[in-house]
Amino acid sequence: MFNLNTLVRPNILALEAYSSARDEFSGSEGIFLDANENPFGNLNRYPDPLQKELKQKLSAIKSVDTGNIFTGNGSDEAIDLCFRIFCKPGKDKALIFTPTYGMYEVSANVNNIELIKVELDSNFQIDSDTAKDALEDNMIKLIFICSPNNPTGNTINNVEDIVKSFNGIVVVDEAYADFSNTSLIDKIDVYPNLIILQTLSKSWGLAAARIGIAFASADIIKLFNKVKPPYNISRLNYTAAVDALDKLEIYKLQKSTIISEREKLTAALANLPMVKKVYPSQANFLLIQVTDADKIYNALAAKNIIIRNRNKVVNNCLRISVGTPQENQELVAALKTIES
Ligand code: PMP
Repeated sequence: MFNLNTLVRPNILALEAYSSARDEFSGSEGIFLDANENPFGNLNRYPDPLQKELKQKLSAIKSVDTGNIFTGNGSDEAIDLCFRIFCKPGKDKALIFTPTYGMYEVSANVNNIELIKVELDSNFQIDSDTAKDALEDNMIKLIFICSPNNPTGNTINNVEDIVKSFNGIVVVDEAYADFSNTSLIDKIDVYPNLIILQTLSKSWGLAAARIGIAFASADIIKLFNKVKPPYNISRLNYTAAVDALDKLEIYKLQKSTIISEREKLTAALANLPMVKKVYPSQANFLLIQVTDADKIYNALAAKNIIIRNRNKVVNNCLRISVGTPQENQELVAALKTIES
């Protein structure tokens, strides 16, 4: 039987959350002399610590109850909270499948958590036997699976098997899921050990606003809310997010443009002699294997075209975000001028 409390750090279980000034009064009218704010100005009041309006909009779009939603300062905040809630520093461990998003390792290091790295297979998929062996270590409390994975772009096939068989917490990072047709978001009621991370930074075009989301059981969301700083989303960012979530048509149009540009860019890159392989992508970026990654990366940078050199992570590979149609054309034109 899954027992969440046995996985939570005892100090977090015992923690009494900070009670913010507005917690005891729910009205919006009145004379507010409770939070040491400046009475003048437009941004003088603290934002809603419960982030109700944002959660209601996300709830409607994602068909998830508001009690199953945490909103924070980018999904990077949620990643850090996972370590802080579930892993005892210097004792517990976490596991990732590499190559993957770099912040899991940085966050593990910040929190003094040993990170076990299991390599994805040659198709960038999880090899069940290797994963099973690694998971014998019962100090592992947390697994991160990024799907679609960054930097490889593919979705991971057997995520649900791992969620089912693992007794700890599985965090599925779906930062790029809106560009694919896969998500486990509708499984948060089925698996009490599942946390889904999403973000408004990618498909919603709000990277500057830093809004990340965790979807999980109400009990897990309560833990996130207990540990987060009370005003973790600024009102400016909050307003930007709430406004964007009302503009579903813009979101859909941008998303479909990015997906069709991804396909066009895949074809154009595959035709270049310097490109050995374009990995299939379900995200808004492409991983390509080239003849000489460092050389091509530097040559593009000299032309003010900045891509991500992943040579140290996947041999001779570059990661390219899908840009506007114009930007993508300029990228391909620039690559054509580079000798390979
Ligand atoms: N997860 C993945 C897989 C990412 O690639 C990124 C951003 N590069 C993040 C999370 C962080 O997103 P946010 O902007 O929401 O912090």
